[in-house]
Amino acid sequence: MPVTQAYFDLIDAFGEPGCAVCRLALRDVQRYLEALLYEYTTDYDVYQAFRRSRGLCNTHTAQFIRFTGSAPGMSVLAHGALSEILQQLEPPSLLKSGGRAGLRRLLAPGDSASAALAQRLAPRAGCPACATLHDAEQRYTIILHDHPEDTRLLAAYRASDGLCVPHLRRLLRQEPAAPHLAVLVATQQDIWQRLRAELEAFLHKDGSQSAQAGSESDSRLRALLLLAGQPGILEALEPWQP
Ligand SMILES: [Zn+2]
Ligand SMILES: [Zn+2]
Repeated sequence: MPVTQAYFDLIDAFGEPGCAVCRLALRDVQRYLEALLYEYTTDYDVYQAFRRSRGLCNTHTAQFIRFTGSAPGMSVLAHGALSEILQQLEPPSLLKSGGRAGLRRLLAPGDSASAALAQRLAPRAGCPACATLHDAEQRYTIILHDHPEDTRLLAAYRASDGLCVPHLRRLLRQEPAAPHLAVLVATQQDIWQRLRAELEAFLHKDGSQSAQAGSESDSRLRALLLLAGQPGILEALEPWQP
């Protein structure tokens, strides 16, 4: 199996704290949003896709609006998506029967036209940043799947904080072959058993000064992040379906 840049990125990320797949996927989303703002705002296809998705999802909008350096680029994208919404709100067919009065009549509570209009406002495409996130998660977990004999990769994995539960599940859904599966699961068990021992050590010392000093002092935080994934990992959301 040929190695890629993602392979080397994964090995490097295993040397950093927390789940390596979380770290790399969130990095790639951040890069995508930067590119969206600084490189793609004049790309017609990207602009149209942003219109169809009605902008970004709630989570990625929160991330996107933290960029402060390109107000014109962000304004172009927002203008396109808002224009799309306005276009859907006032389709010619709704106005035929009497202008705005006709629209108000059509939007009476319980009228099926209001449900149809709600449907018209629904995104026509998934959030592109979510798609970037899911692609990245797939790209990095498949590396562990595809290199069962790679001692360098497996050593880096063993020495790491392990995968979070969402990314271990993603790896398992890729169905690694039985011998490799056993190695992956045993590695993850070792890592989580060490973490559980740190939690127990912390509980044993709780209330004493030494509880603050040891490596176990932040074990509860590391454990919680490995259970849920880093903030920004959208494990509960399936990839967008039309
Ligand atoms: Zn993760
Ligand atoms: Zn999103």
